[in-house]
Amino acid sequence: MPRPTLARVDLEAIRHNYRLACSLAGDADAMAVVKADGYGHGIQAVARALGSETRRYAVACIEEADAIRKAGLSQPVVLLQGVHEQNDLSHCARRNFEPVLHSPVQLDWLVSANVPEFWLKVNTGMNRLGFRPEDLPGVMARLEAAGCSGQLLGFVTHFACADDPGSDMTALQTRCFEQATAAWPSLMRSVGNSAAHFLPGQPLFQWSRPGIMLYGGSPANGKTGPQLGLKPAMTLEAPLIATRTVRAGESVGYGASWTAPRDTLMGMVAIGYGDGYPRHAGTGTPAAINGQRIRLLGRVSMDMLAVDLSGAPQAREGDRVELWGNTVSVDEVASCAGTIGYELLTGVTARVPRIYQ
Ligand SMILES: *Cc1c(COP(=O)(O)O)cnc(C)c1O
Repeated sequence: MPRPTLARVDLEAIRHNYRLACSLAGDADAMAVVKADGYGHGIQAVARALGSETRRYAVACIEEADAIRKAGLSQPVVLLQGVHEQNDLSHCARRNFEPVLHSPVQLDWLVSANVPEFWLKVNTGMNRLGFRPEDLPGVMARLEAAGCSGQLLGFVTHFACADDPGSDMTALQTRCFEQATAAWPSLMRSVGNSAAHFLPGQPLFQWSRPGIMLYGGSPANGKTGPQLGLKPAMTLEAPLIATRTVRAGESVGYGASWTAPRDTLMGMVAIGYGDGYPRHAGTGTPAAINGQRIRLLGRVSMDMLAVDLSGAPQAREGDRVELWGNTVSVDEVASCAGTIGYELLTGVTARVPRIYQ
């Protein structure tokens, strides 16, 4: 009998969230971002679930794009980080992968015979990757000279602060991108992570790139996914394996970091940081049992954690505890652990089976 610690993945929720992204994207088309194993949900299952919905996928690296092809899907796959060596370009050309090229070295590689369709990354202020706006004319001239300009699909840029509606950075980056690419109006343009879909009036050009929102996680500061109309795609659950009354003055777990102020009914749950549950989630972090909210007590161990059952005295060994899902959003747990839902979803380890429904 396998340990009943698992991540249930609701593929219908992913489709619902993708459709919401499309409706928020207006005239733009939305490429489904399924990198990092579909944000921890399983790249092949997620890609298949969106197979009749999306006309493009986006991933970080070539192995992820290969996984999409192995799932039997034929849509173009955008490689958001470009390629790591020249040989990758002919692989991309054969398999209809579209690398986003961001550096002079990658342009040097383009002289090879087999050139895939590709995008160019423009650095409008994120300052991670991309060509500066003033360098674009030179880049375009180089592509023309090398005979590669025909394979250029368009331009990509990435926002630094779209999760903060009060920041003026997104408007500045948008204007910069518009001006930098205005000379090539027939090429496509792509901006917009999930957060940008929720900014009123934000132009998303031809292609937006929703990621976290497809999984029901919040891209916005201070709001949970459900508050934005998203459906959580993952329910992380584990069984209650022991209950006990901790007496007033007794402590629980490593470091004896929580001491019972009064006699307290406590439960042990078979999940820990070895499963990707965040060790930084302290006493008070919410969980749920039988639809009722409860809270963590003390420190998270590798394979288990403790919960306060004072409010759920009817709970029994074998009952399922929801660590995040529909009752407790992953965003709430993330904020208790000082991180973001992205890190929790992508961090669920291979020990936890994904069950699709
Ligand atoms: C990961 C990624 C996205 C998706 O971002 P979310 O915040 O998850 O929506 C979009 N564009 C690029 C370039 C990315 O790397």
